[in-house]
Amino acid sequence: MAGSKFAYVRNFELPDPLLPEAFMVLRIDGHAFHRLSEEHNFVKPNDERALQLMDHAARDVMNEFKDIILAFGESDEYSFLFRRSASLYNRREAKILTTITSLFTSSYVFNWSKYLSDTPLKYCPSFDGRIVLYPTATVVRDYLSWRQADTHINNLYNTVFWALVLKGGQTTTEAHATLRGTVSSQKHEMLYSRFGINYNELPARFRKGSVLVREEVSDTTEARSGPETDKAAASDPGEPVPTSGKKAQKKKPRVRTTVELYHCDIIGDEFWDCRQNLLAD
Ligand code: ATP
Ligand code: ATP
Ligand code: MG
Ligand code: MG
Ligand code: MG
Ligand code: MG
Ligand code: MG
Repeated sequence: MAGSKFAYVRNFELPDPLLPEAFMVLRIDGHAFHRLSEEHNFVKPNDERALQLMDHAARDVMNEFKDIILAFGESDEYSFLFRRSASLYNRREAKILTTITSLFTSSYVFNWSKYLSDTPLKYCPSFDGRIVLYPTATVVRDYLSWRQADTHINNLYNTVFWALVLKGGQTTTEAHATLRGTVSSQKHEMLYSRFGINYNELPARFRKGSVLVREEVSDTTEARSGPETDKAAASDPGEPVPTSGKKAQKKKPRVRTTVELYHCDIIGDEFWDCRQNLLAD
């Protein structure tokens, strides 16, 4: 088959390797979720069930792809950060991007009814995706800070906007007009004086977004490790432990990982100071 006279068409497929050693960030974003959220009656400004569904799909992706060390989600988007030495699919861009975007999408659909049980899915949601390479840990942190700052700006705006509409009786056009030109402190003030809402007391999930981070668990289980046992393989609890070797095989603590969900600040240093190794390799 490989030798058929048609096989030359394979040469039209161009390689698309991603630069070695650079940090990869894959970001997916819901297609036309403004409409999807309306059609499915999402609670405004934040439907917590829909955010939990996004977190679930992101966790499924991280459970499948151990090279992802951290993910950040808000609204209809999720960013996945790979360890810089990741070598999955020989770093072929299309293979990585399409496989993960499609896994995220199918998990979103597959788990929809667990979170929005009273709202049947009316049509097929889809997500776009892109991969961007970042050369240094500093730029990676700035990227994540950019997304979390965006979460804050959007959430503050949306919270006041929907208070004006749902509690203040304004039309959406009026609410946009009310907010035009206002700065952050004025929005805080408007929320508090007109609606009795203290912005800083809103759920952290809405203000900070979702951070999924792969963390090592100290495990007393001892595993015999062969030379090829790497962190990713060892972190799979279902991975068979090699048993065929001789006594010569050393016992080494098994490195297990778990994916933890936080709604915390990732702009300041504290999160990173507690996880010095996260961006190391
Ligand atoms: P595009 O296809 O260009 O991404 P979009 O309609 O998805 O267009 P976005 O900028 O991605 O636009 O914004 C997503 C929109 O989806 C938000 O503005 C909000 O209206 C809605 N949305 C997403 N998640 C939620 C949620 N959990 N609760 C309420 N609304 C949500
Ligand atoms: P990769 O992830 O690299 O694509 P793969 O396991 O999907 O790996 P493919 O070359 O895409 O490998 O081949 C798909 C395989 O799926 C086929 O070789 C066959 O074994 C199986 N398969 C797909 N569709 C069917 C089907 N309708 N009936 C039986 N087997 C199928
Ligand atoms: Mg978009
Ligand atoms: Mg979108
Ligand atoms: Mg979006
Ligand atoms: Mg195939
Ligand atoms: Mg295949």
